[in-house]
Amino acid sequence: MPVPIIVASGNGAPGLPVGIRILARGGSALDAVEACAKVIEADPTDTSVGRGGRPNVLGEVELDASIVDGTTHRTGAVAALQGYLHPISVARAVMERGPHVMLVGEGAARFAKEIGASKAQNLTAATRKLWVERLRAAGETPASIRRRSKLLPIVLNTVREHFGTVNFLALDRKGHLASAVTTSGWAYKYPGRVGDSPIVGAGNYCDTRYGAAACTGYGELAIRNLSAKTAVDRLAAGMRADEVAHSTIADANALEDAAFNVVVLTTKGEHASATNREGRQYAWMTTEMKEAATAPRALVPRGPR
Ligand code: ASP
Repeated sequence: MPVPIIVASGNGAPGLPVGIRILARGGSALDAVEACAKVIEADPTDTSVGRGGRPNVLGEVELDASIVDGTTHRTGAVAALQGYLHPISVARAVMERGPHVMLVGEGAARFAKEIGASKAQNLTAATRKLWVERLRAAGETPASIRRRSKLLPIVLNTVREHFGTVNFLALDRKGHLASAVTTSGWAYKYPGRVGDSPIVGAGNYCDTRYGAAACTGYGELAIRNLSAKTAVDRLAAGMRADEVAHSTIADANALEDAAFNVVVLTTKGEHASATNREGRQYAWMTTEMKEAATAPRALVPRGPR
């Protein structure tokens, strides 16, 4: 039996001990990834996830999340959800309590209310300030932006580099895999923009038979490449985790020059990560470790075209 492990994006490290405690007492990978994600969602200092995540161009925090059970292939996702503290738990409820796999916008919020999910004011004073500064750089104010009939010029001019998300891939004592991704998405995005995080197969995928993968960075690339599913397919075809991570970034690099990162976990607990930007970390923890470890992601630069 493999040693239970959870692998995450670098900003997921503070969530790992909670999930590892679940795995150490024989709990499921699914429970572990949800618990880890909730820690980061509730942390207002992470400006890319949950409460304290950066808003869209209108100052509304729209959250995306998905969860995948690698054994049953049940999945649940929410996108552009406003006003709730734990989008990952709403995503899990979509998976477990209804007949659908994905709910968006007002429908997702309605569902969250119906199941009694915890509400939250996700725009904090700190992220409101960041938003106002960003608007100021574009010659706008909160009042002026709300009057604009055209948001596209502002979105095109101001927001390209702001990303961030947290993801968790877990392997439990029974050998089951699960994965969770949660994010406030592309900061100052167009209202209603949905990234890769809630798109199963793009930003998040796992299959207990082969492995798991999740992406961060410019989500549009993960959607265009179906990056997470492709990564798991490559594991299924026998590629090593580090080769899979490398090839996932190479695929993104082939499309555009934009920040892109991936984490990969095999059914044996081997893990790897790659990126096309300097200085990016990923994190992991096993039930045999006292604290989370972090390491640089392997760099796969785009290179001259
Ligand atoms: N992938 C996320 C998105 O596109 C953002 C990120 O991971 O940085 O919404």
